[in-house]
Amino acid sequence: MTAKAIETIGVIGAGQMGQGIAQVSAVAGLGVTLLDVAPEVLERALAAIDRNLGRQEQKGILTAEARGAARARIRTATENAGLSGCDLVIEAATEREEVKLAILKGLVPHLKPAALIASNTSSISITRLAAATDRPERVIGMHFMNPVPVMKLVEVIRGIATSDATFETVKALAERMGKTVAVAQDHPAFLVNRILVPMINEAVFALADGVGSVAAIDTAMKLGTNQPMGPLELGDFIGLDTCLSIMRVLHSELGEDKYRPCPLLVKYVEAGWVGRKAKRGFYDYAENPPRPTR
Ligand code: NAD
Repeated sequence: MTAKAIETIGVIGAGQMGQGIAQVSAVAGLGVTLLDVAPEVLERALAAIDRNLGRQEQKGILTAEARGAARARIRTATENAGLSGCDLVIEAATEREEVKLAILKGLVPHLKPAALIASNTSSISITRLAAATDRPERVIGMHFMNPVPVMKLVEVIRGIATSDATFETVKALAERMGKTVAVAQDHPAFLVNRILVPMINEAVFALADGVGSVAAIDTAMKLGTNQPMGPLELGDFIGLDTCLSIMRVLHSELGEDKYRPCPLLVKYVEAGWVGRKAKRGFYDYAENPPRPTR
């Protein structure tokens, strides 16, 4: 299958990433079916997509016509049967291996034989995910960045069994979506998160050790290293649950103490304070501007 032959895609998981992937795919002219566990999750996702497309129209990025056409290309589903016509399915559900494996097992009986499967996982082995399917040569990592409509990069990760044809098709598709591809090997957390998430974890250690407050750490890193967001603000933006999952993958698979998740990060996740999406993390988002919590 070539990138041109991909006309319809499924997106599993309508959280912050799935919404963005559905949006950029529809803007690129693809038919999209967005799937999640419950209709209310999908309603929230469609409302977010509407807001984002509206903002793009206001900024002159999209015409009113293009906006309407993109929105009309997005359908929703809560059952895998809704993905049976898709040429490619992108899995963008919660960053837990058992969740992704269960999704893949349930999905494959519904797919066309030629359909490709991509995972947007931030850290989990593409090779292991592929082995849970009936088509490991057609499985690949397609790691979009957050927020998807804004960020230019897609990290493409080949599992050990991924075919050249799958790789070329997915690389070309990412480019059709207006993205730039960086190729990473199938190694825990790949490239971006191998480097980024330990920095966020280290910022939480600095906070826990009392080296500085939330505001001091983020100001230091923003102004001291010219990053648009401080590491704690960025952790809240990514989702602290996702950051913790990535650290656990790095720690267990590379076996090095330097990847030990900070106990304070664990505690925030246990409390349900997982960042922006929960309206509370290292900042309290009920207030405007968000108030540092430590
Ligand atoms: P999220 O918590 O916002 O959304 C996850 C969604 O998955 C939820 O809507 C949930 O209902 C859904 N889900 C859970 N189990 C499901 C199932 N069995 N079937 C269908 N849907 C299911 O998380 P997110 O930030 O969108 O992350 C999703 C994926 O994208 C993860 O693998 C994450 O590592 C990856 N990712 C996240 C970021 C980021 O910055 N947040 C960046 C790149 C990649």
